[in-house]
Amino acid sequence: MSQRFHAPVVLPCDPACSVIRDGVVDVDDGRITYCGPAADAPPPAAPVTALSGILLPGLVNTHAHSPMTLLRGMGGDLPLLRWLNEIIWPAEAKLRAEDVRAGMVLGSLEMLSHGVTTSAEMYFHPEEMADAVLSTGARVVLGGPILDLPGLDWHAMITATERWVDADGLRFGPGERIELSFAAHSAYMLPPEALRLTGEAAAARGALVQIHVAEAANEDERQRAEFGSVPKLLDQVGLLDGRVLAAHAIHLSDEDIALFAARGVGVAHCPGSNGKLASGIARLTDLRAAAVPVGLGTDGPASNDDLDLWEEIQLAAVLARLSTKDSTALGAADALLLATRGGADALGRNDIGALEAGRWADLVHLETDGFAFAAGLDVPDEQLLANVVWAAGSRRLRDVWVAGEQVVADGESTRVDREKAYATARESAARVRS
Ligand SMILES: [Zn+2]
Repeated sequence: MSQRFHAPVVLPCDPACSVIRDGVVDVDDGRITYCGPAADAPPPAAPVTALSGILLPGLVNTHAHSPMTLLRGMGGDLPLLRWLNEIIWPAEAKLRAEDVRAGMVLGSLEMLSHGVTTSAEMYFHPEEMADAVLSTGARVVLGGPILDLPGLDWHAMITATERWVDADGLRFGPGERIELSFAAHSAYMLPPEALRLTGEAAAARGALVQIHVAEAANEDERQRAEFGSVPKLLDQVGLLDGRVLAAHAIHLSDEDIALFAARGVGVAHCPGSNGKLASGIARLTDLRAAAVPVGLGTDGPASNDDLDLWEEIQLAAVLARLSTKDSTALGAADALLLATRGGADALGRNDIGALEAGRWADLVHLETDGFAFAAGLDVPDEQLLANVVWAAGSRRLRDVWVAGEQVVADGESTRVDREKAYATARESAARVRS
């Protein structure tokens, strides 16, 4: 089905972060066929959706554990290890498949309402998560966690993902909404042999490996003593030869950054979570200077706590500036690109994160009648981008399309009853707390 979107301003999130005035996005069969000025567009053969305000690509959340919406706020002011040991792990042990589904539906609705159309997820019961995301109409890259704990068998966890990819393919569902990945928890929760086998299994299938890297300074002392650093360990076992997304990547040396750049490893920068858990500030400016693909992540909603990626855009810019004492360290345009095109790059995807011919039509409509745009749209491009990033955020987000299908209309899901989703999640949350 063909359709045309026409808006006073279109932000394609191309590398230059262009601002297209009086812009058009043409869509056919879920994918973009044209994005540019209306004056240069082909004759409209399709129904036209005329929008006020700004049209931009759906945001890409490169690191989340969204079913943790059920645990949001529990023990939020405890130190990290007590929070995990006393609160989170006991609660997670009570989660059933249907609870994970309820939490994922809620998280997916929340992200869509903030204009986040894709998230990379690592959590238990991935089949339920896929089902939940298909129900809301969002897009996801997901994997069940592979980790070594008493009572868990990491071999079986790798095999489970292998079998699923081999049965259903790497990407499937309407508009290829689901992408499967291998979610190796971390180097400190897995023996090197498990990391090697995960890397092999993923590379053989062209699949992404998601992995937590260098989040807390003291989490990987044993690995650092033996291999020099976690990136060096991952490289030695061959895991960096395929598609890899390193979440957090805070405590990196210059050598580690050069290694990530040489191997094309993507980084999920999670400034909100890293700040709240006092983990540190990732070296965003150095990662970008080395041309490491960097996207933004919320991390799980039990540790950040909302799933509004616009806050990470602002935090990424603020922390990059504070940590370098340079107010030009990350501009509004580059901060916006981190959450869109940069996120797609970090995931190794060239079919989302920007409005370009050939990519999926994951679109977000930002209304501009509020305080943030009091000066109107007829301002210089730089000022308009500043208003979007620094003043508007997700507040005026009205409509969202994924693969050309409208999934949020005037702020509400077109597919899921939000009140029912709340009620189901409340029941699950109450049981997990008890
Ligand atoms: Zn995480």
